[in-house]
Amino acid sequence: MMKTIGVIGGMSWESSAEYYRLLNTYTKARLGGHHNARSLMATVDFADIEALQRAGDWDALGVQMAQAATQLERGGAGIVLLATNTMHRVCASIEAAIAIPFLHIADPTGAALRAAGVTRVGLLGTRYTMEQDFYVGRLRDVHGIEAIVPDDAARADVHRIIYDELCHGNVKTESRQIYQRTIEALAQAGAHAVILGCTEITLLIRAEDSALPVFDTTALHAQAAVDWALSDA
Ligand code: GLU
Repeated sequence: MMKTIGVIGGMSWESSAEYYRLLNTYTKARLGGHHNARSLMATVDFADIEALQRAGDWDALGVQMAQAATQLERGGAGIVLLATNTMHRVCASIEAAIAIPFLHIADPTGAALRAAGVTRVGLLGTRYTMEQDFYVGRLRDVHGIEAIVPDDAARADVHRIIYDELCHGNVKTESRQIYQRTIEALAQAGAHAVILGCTEITLLIRAEDSALPVFDTTALHAQAAVDWALSDA
């Protein structure tokens, strides 16, 4: 029996829509016919979330994420996904609030990198993800992978394009070129692959756009959730 995947979405809804599409696409690819994923999504209001991020109020954000996770558990979800890399800063609040498993977005990505033999990887994401230790530290401590990030000016561009463009669904050629140059600089700094460590970057950068092999956290997270939902365990 297919199990129910719970998704905390809305950060932004542009990437949540991509999760919804991928969960159903991967399920149909496995089961065929009219099959789609059994899923629930609890959507928060990104205006509140983005303001709290800028204020650095991670405690309040943890409370909101825990509430959304609880909604999913009460609704019958068997697992919780948080459809943003950045908000994994507060994953401990989610894990403390629910009895069902939480599928950390960095884990399927770390496993895919290890399977590909990549030990040094570039990381693109929001400033929070690139500069704080919650993400780079998890890759290092759990997966033994060294993540390197762009220089300060490039981090500012990568961050601005996420919030001012991609979270509004704006996909611009000149922004793709900025990301492409940033990926080339990461390659020169010794990265052997690049993590699209923000769930909207998949809207901008495809494998063919990148000088380095791409590890797309949105796709890897959704695939891991479908593998879980269709497993017997
Ligand atoms: N979706 C983005 C991420 O994966 C950024 C939006 C947010 O701040 O949650 O980090």
